Amino acid sequence: MSSPTLFERIIAREIPSEIVYEDEHYICIKDIAPKAPIHLLVIPKKVSARVDEITDPNEMGQLWLTATKIARQQAPDYRLLVNCGEGGGQVVFHTHIHILAGWEGGPDSD
Ligand code: 5GP
Repeated sequence: MSSPTLFERIIAREIPSEIVYEDEHYICIKDIAPKAPIHLLVIPKKVSARVDEITDPNEMGQLWLTATKIARQQAPDYRLLVNCGEGGGQVVFHTHIHILAGWEGGPDSD
């Protein structure tokens, strides 16, 4: 059996995090190293290493619907981001969607 992912350990409360949303299938936490004034991670509890391992359209749809629901509760406008694979900038191999928001003048205003 493979060892639990970092996010599984967060879901299990073995590692502390700031949880902003949780239901039966998803958890949303604040990113530990925020790259925007609001930086959240939406994480399915069902483990897949990367987003393109999800082949069920319902599962993929529910993940995105959950992310947009949470994002809209945080800010009127936002960016959703998925890093896929090392070459795509993925560091934690447990599928997640980044929610980035809260800039004064948009994401490229700095
Ligand atoms: P990735 O590059 O895999 O798409 O993004 C992984 C994200 O997880 C990064 O933005 C990183 O800051 C965040 N992260 C890494 N370790 C932890 C942690 O222990 N707690 C939280 N809340 N976020 C983490």
